[in-house]
Amino acid sequence: MSRKNLALCCKIFTLPMDYAYIKDNYEKWVEGTPKEQYNQLKEIWLLYPMLIPLNEYKELIVKDIIYYHYTCKHLIKNRCSIQDNKPEMCKIFSKDNCKKVYPSCESNCFKGNE
Ligand code: SF4
Ligand code: SF4
Repeated sequence: MSRKNLALCCKIFTLPMDYAYIKDNYEKWVEGTPKEQYNQLKEIWLLYPMLIPLNEYKELIVKDIIYYHYTCKHLIKNRCSIQDNKPEMCKIFSKDNCKKVYPSCESNCFKGNE
């Protein structure tokens, strides 16, 4: 099996927030800013530390929403190194989404072969 087509959803994915915004959100959480004073991103304590921005990729615009590209520092040898503690957005990534967005991924993790 080709090694380059494994774990594609962890190697490159998009979020509708830029890195500066996510960093600022994380710093507010670290400072203990009350939740009412900002739009605290879901699981920001997991989200910001895992992200590596891929600035070489141009932003995507879908239905007027700008998406930015990222990879994840927890991806080690094509496997998630924090399986039990990964964020909800990774846990709920559905089979349908997977095959629509990453049709060429060969991980077949839904067959227990990730
Ligand atoms: S098969 Fe889908 S969910 Fe599994 S690693 Fe590849 S893109 Fe991700
Ligand atoms: S936390 Fe794990 S499952 Fe989520 S993007 Fe990173 S390596 Fe992939």
